[in-house]
Amino acid sequence: MAQNSARNVGRHFLQIPGPTQLPDRVLRAMDTPMIDHRGPEFAKVAKKALDGIKTIFKTTNPVVIYTATGTGAWEGALVNTLSPGDRVLMVETGQFAALWKKMAERLGLKPEFISTDWRHGIDPKAIEAKLREDKNKEIKAVCVLHNETSTGALTPIAEIRKAIDAADHPALFLVDTISSLASADYRHDEWRVDVSVGGAQKGLMMPPGMSFNAISDKALKANQNAKMPKSFFAWDDMLGMNKIGFFPYTPATLMLHGLIEGVAMLHEEGLDNVFARHNRLAEATRRAVKAWGLENLNKNASQHSPTITAILLPEGHDADKFRALALETFNISYGASFGPYAGKYFRIGHLGDINDGTLIGALGITEMALELAGIPHKKGGVQAAMDYIAQAHAGPKRAAAE
Ligand SMILES: *Cc1c(COP(=O)(O)O)cnc(C)c1O
Repeated sequence: MAQNSARNVGRHFLQIPGPTQLPDRVLRAMDTPMIDHRGPEFAKVAKKALDGIKTIFKTTNPVVIYTATGTGAWEGALVNTLSPGDRVLMVETGQFAALWKKMAERLGLKPEFISTDWRHGIDPKAIEAKLREDKNKEIKAVCVLHNETSTGALTPIAEIRKAIDAADHPALFLVDTISSLASADYRHDEWRVDVSVGGAQKGLMMPPGMSFNAISDKALKANQNAKMPKSFFAWDDMLGMNKIGFFPYTPATLMLHGLIEGVAMLHEEGLDNVFARHNRLAEATRRAVKAWGLENLNKNASQHSPTITAILLPEGHDADKFRALALETFNISYGASFGPYAGKYFRIGHLGDINDGTLIGALGITEMALELAGIPHKKGGVQAAMDYIAQAHAGPKRAAAE
């Protein structure tokens, strides 16, 4: 085909919403000899990793580190705080919300699913209304995604906290921030989230295989009466051992070095700058989509995701075929589509260790691929993105010079 070569020249454009590009620094940090995971040298590494990740969740409480992908930390959040048959309130923002709900059902919980059309994020008022209806306070937890990766919807967590408070409801507040942590502003303590679920391979710029539970005092208290069966994911063994810098079983020792480096990189850049970069790249992507005359799957402009943009193709065009053509021709990977819109959209991930130039390259490829695939669109998407990025940089520079 167009590339005419068995070898992919240059770097792969990995525009999926995780795993994201591994920075060389993280890779090098993990390139280190094995040490005894019960020895004094290891305890120092563990302590540094455990302390470091707290600063990313913005919590002074413990954060548990699991040797598991994000799905494992989902399970950790549920089994450590709830009991069989407990009612939990969830919102169908998209595929990942549906998977978390399925897990809750499999574990013997009774999830109530507030449905959406997959094109709008969560309405905090809908949560408040459900909680107000629950006069006997039978709902034990509200479980939402901070960022629905499958549709590109960001949830206003602070507003949901207010909704729970306004309903004067005692439910625990469990939040999946897997595809937004270290990319979008997140405040575990300030927003009084009870369990925040994080993962390694998205904004944290690490390989897959590590995930997190940030835990509130209220969640720790709930843990004492939680009757769900648990073993590998049990907090009590973990928290006890973590206090002295150890784990109940062999942790992913090399990944802890990667985590320390990733956290250091985020603080060198400054978390606020990290969030501003993600917002800038997301807005540039949306400007490109608009200039192409295509539609963002998410229709609620106030909840557009800073890490992922889902782009609908015009009726009659197959998004999976488009992704395959772009991969074959230009060596770019996009995110797939799900649910009622399966085959109708593709997603551009713009999170992790990504800069302006990489995004412009990805958008340039996308514009060429749209042309090649014969998908009706207008020219000028990349130009619109470049104009926005230049303008975004000029603003602060001008302000600093004045
Ligand atoms: C990626 C993702 C998950 C699943 O994490 P795994 O690491 O694949 O197990 C869950 N929730 C959200 C929002 C995600 O983006």
